[in-house]
Amino acid sequence: MNLILFGPPAAGKGTQAKRLVTERGFIQLSTGDMLRAAVASGSELGNQVKSIMESGALVSDEIVIALIDEQLTANPDAPGFIYDGFPRTVGQAEALDQLLEKRGTKIHQVIRLVVDEDALLERVTKRFEEQGRKDDNPETFKTRLEKYNADTAPLIPIYAERGVLKEVDGMGSIEAVSTAIDGALGAAV
Ligand code: AMP
Repeated sequence: MNLILFGPPAAGKGTQAKRLVTERGFIQLSTGDMLRAAVASGSELGNQVKSIMESGALVSDEIVIALIDEQLTANPDAPGFIYDGFPRTVGQAEALDQLLEKRGTKIHQVIRLVVDEDALLERVTKRFEEQGRKDDNPETFKTRLEKYNADTAPLIPIYAERGVLKEVDGMGSIEAVSTAIDGALGAAV
């Protein structure tokens, strides 16, 4: 099972991915988490991406595709993968198709969390106060939203045309969103 959790930054993808990991044993592949871990470890990759991430821009397709490739190879027997924050560009989506095809599989579902941008800004301001993530400050967050609308949102019609996209209201409580996602996943998993 390959499931993409899709939506703008702070839409709740990470929260839902972690729940599905606990409940269904899937592996969460969050490129944002992987990159933050690289920055925290002070590795060469971390130093390379630190300022890009802090500015709210996207790191190169090449870097994140390599991270995903590595994780797919490291977990050959996983019951499923949840892609969280990846793919974020058309190039990444094409590369993911190829990585999966090489392994005899494909994207089964894309669940899009539909959220209101003003409400997101409020949500992320709160997260900034609680967690202090530099790229959650309101100015940087606006850049991240712009990147989402310019580079990531074009994937929506692509997945819709393929018949794998389902939309879920992402503005409710965590419980309500969880129920909606489980409904969208249905008997598929
Ligand atoms: P996230 O936690 O998913 O919002 O990611 C935090 C930051 O990491 C983003 O603003 C980007 O700078 C970088 N990043 C994470 N995933 C990707 C990706 N798939 N492509 C490019 N940059 C990414």
